[in-house]
Amino acid sequence: MTAQDREPVTGGCLCGAVRFRVTGPFLRAGNCHCVRCRKHSGAALGTQGRVLRKHFELLDGAERIRIYTPAEGAAVKAFCEICGSSLFGGTWPDGPEVSIRLGALDADPGIRPQCHTFVRDKAPWHEILDDLPQHPGRLPR
Ligand SMILES: [Zn+2]
Ligand SMILES: [Zn+2]
Repeated sequence: MTAQDREPVTGGCLCGAVRFRVTGPFLRAGNCHCVRCRKHSGAALGTQGRVLRKHFELLDGAERIRIYTPAEGAAVKAFCEICGSSLFGGTWPDGPEVSIRLGALDADPGIRPQCHTFVRDKAPWHEILDDLPQHPGRLPR
């Protein structure tokens, strides 16, 4: 089965106000340990995947999405204003790609995290137990 044969993967926030669908393959995915992802998720790390914007459809709840923009030009955090679920990042709502929090998905996106970024900001109580590449900061270009 190729990526193109996959059923669209749906996703949404905890309360269900925001719903979306991904109709094409994920380009890449990673675990981010930066302080922004940690605080926004309340977890050890944020896991996100990228898809082309043409493969992303917002089905419901556009008016419920709030955007927080951290200082120093860091990626935005887009979330549901009702339940607080962290949903999108990167350059939301613009740009050629959409960065999606994989925890918001309803099913298997077909991709797995490929690396760890911002490992220098890792939570001291969290231990990385896999063999994926670790980058001190953002993904090298
Ligand atoms: Zn919600
Ligand atoms: Zn991050």
